[in-house]
Amino acid sequence: DKIFSGFSKTRSNLAVIDELLLYWNLSDTDKVLDELEEALLVSDFGPRITIKIVESLREDILAGKLKSGSDIKAALKKSVLDLLSKIGNKTELQFGYRKPAVVMIVGVNGGGKTTSLGKLAYRLKNEGAKILMAAGDTFRAAASDQLEIWAERTGCEIVVAEREKAKASSVLSQAVKRGKEQAFDIVLCDTSGRLHTNYSLMEELIACKKAVGKAVPGAPNEILLVLDGTTGLNMLPQAREFNEVVGITGLILTKLDGSARGGCVVSVVDELGIPVKFIGVGEGLQDLQPFDAEAFVNAIFS
Ligand code: GDP
Repeated sequence: DKIFSGFSKTRSNLAVIDELLLYWNLSDTDKVLDELEEALLVSDFGPRITIKIVESLREDILAGKLKSGSDIKAALKKSVLDLLSKIGNKTELQFGYRKPAVVMIVGVNGGGKTTSLGKLAYRLKNEGAKILMAAGDTFRAAASDQLEIWAERTGCEIVVAEREKAKASSVLSQAVKRGKEQAFDIVLCDTSGRLHTNYSLMEELIACKKAVGKAVPGAPNEILLVLDGTTGLNMLPQAREFNEVVGITGLILTKLDGSARGGCVVSVVDELGIPVKFIGVGEGLQDLQPFDAEAFVNAIFS
């Protein structure tokens, strides 16, 4: 499994405590927890979550609730799973009863927006949905071409801007209207991803959201933020800003097949309280998986 191989580095970082736990006794507690703290920090869990996990383990050890190395390991895995499950298991896409359902894909350039949109189209089409793509990244000419390649590859129809410098919101609105007229089930909207600090980008995203909502009441049903997993904790401020401006309903974490460190997955969920809905584990059509917290925990701990 690609998520398993992708996290080999995280797994080996976290595995440093395994040998210590094997021969653990109460007097080793501080040493083991110091090592664990270090390993969690190196794996991008961030200081707040790291301290939370380590101190709750310390408390349970001292209270005699954890009596062996394997008890401690199990409690550690459970605390990570609990952090991921705290917000509930809302990993499925929520489409209302109105058609078409509209999904906006947002995020900074290079994070994997267009690729994720293509992979998502492939997945939803295989589930039987009639998909329309909308090339809302009108800022970058190449983005439209790239999405057209994905449309061809997945056999989906696509709406692109009819002229240069068209407004993103009008392309999306046109796509959603066509989606309604021609009985598409889902419209997947790509958006621009200039640097998130660019004020006009955020304005544009708000305009896009309004425009699709005008075309179909209740739309967009989902606004998915694509985050590059290899950026680690740096994704947090970016994610917060997108969420404040447009309201994110779910996350897609990409490039988890590479050098991404697993802790950032837990950090971003904990910080934002938004579920990870999908993970990207490669560049191919099938490399988008629904997020499974348990599989994730098993992938980062050996
Ligand atoms: P966008 O600018 O946000 O639309 O990003 P793109 O979709 O163009 O992706 C940027 C680069 O990341 C491309 O080379 C993609 O093939 C690559 N990419 C996207 N998702 C993944 C992933 O899950 N794993 C890997 N290894 N590469 C990815």
